[in-house]
Amino acid sequence: MPFPGIFRVTCDTPIPGLPHVHVYMAEGEHGGIVLIDTAMPFGDSFERIKQGIEWLGRSPSDVERIYLTHAHPDHFGCAGRLQELTGAPVVCHPFAKRALEAMGNPDPERWKQRLVVYAEHGWADEDELTGRMSSSFQQMVLPEEMTTIDEGDAVTFGGGSFDIYWTPGHEEGHVVFFRKSDRLCVVGDTVLGKITPHIGWMPGGSGVSPDVEPSDPLGQFLDSLEKVAQLDPSLVLPGHGRPFDEGAERAHAIAAHHEARLRRCMGILIRRGPLNALEVAHDLFDRQLLHFEVRLALAETLAHLEYLRLRGRLQREMRDGVWCYEAPKRLIP
Ligand SMILES: [Zn+2]
Repeated sequence: MPFPGIFRVTCDTPIPGLPHVHVYMAEGEHGGIVLIDTAMPFGDSFERIKQGIEWLGRSPSDVERIYLTHAHPDHFGCAGRLQELTGAPVVCHPFAKRALEAMGNPDPERWKQRLVVYAEHGWADEDELTGRMSSSFQQMVLPEEMTTIDEGDAVTFGGGSFDIYWTPGHEEGHVVFFRKSDRLCVVGDTVLGKITPHIGWMPGGSGVSPDVEPSDPLGQFLDSLEKVAQLDPSLVLPGHGRPFDEGAERAHAIAAHHEARLRRCMGILIRRGPLNALEVAHDLFDRQLLHFEVRLALAETLAHLEYLRLRGRLQREMRDGVWCYEAPKRLIP
């Protein structure tokens, strides 16, 4: 499948179940090139990106801008080093910028509060959480200089104009790039072809957009899927996996997956009575979860439980220091 005016470099990641991530490259507005996403500092990613620039017959100083679809390590990980190499500004949504700035200046108090909130949802594993905090950032150089783009802006690359759409849910500062002339969409992780992106509830949200409290990442994500579906992309260039057509159909299939999971959450609580989020997660994922998967499964389950609670379809009650979710009495046989 041709990608009109856009090239791709694929890099490895250390993330289980997500073996690679794509970096897209295209001709920029001023005769240079732009990058969209930057992979993460793992294996030979940095070298591959440099080679990609060379294959286009360019040198690092030709890079005009480094766009980020969102502030997750597999997408921004090499951004700081690439900025050092190229001198180009890193451009992302204001919430992604705030998240990156917060990562550069981690607040131990906030992490402690998170541990408390996770414990209130049935999971207390301090070692795992604090371990993650320190190891995540070891090799990452954060960009020094960032500028922002937001919904309503347009940027030029690959021989055309791309409109920016804000698509929070997977990450609060997520954006997609849509070229109306041929309905091509560089979509980041909002719509993936074969897998569904992780939608995780975090205590206090990601903390970058307090204006969208209470945290409702699944509600945001379902709205974002509908936004992409309305654009009706004819060619989708995702952050992971192969490009695909029929973007609206895939966005609706992912929404249907979450609707089914919401029904399963309700079903579990109707069948088994009040449960904490960790208990629902173990039932929902229905297999032995590996250690690192527990936090992700809990966050994903909470995104669904909180979606239902915020819409009055579930309630919760604190019992012995742990939140228990409960289906309305009228639904329990
Ligand atoms: Zn990703």
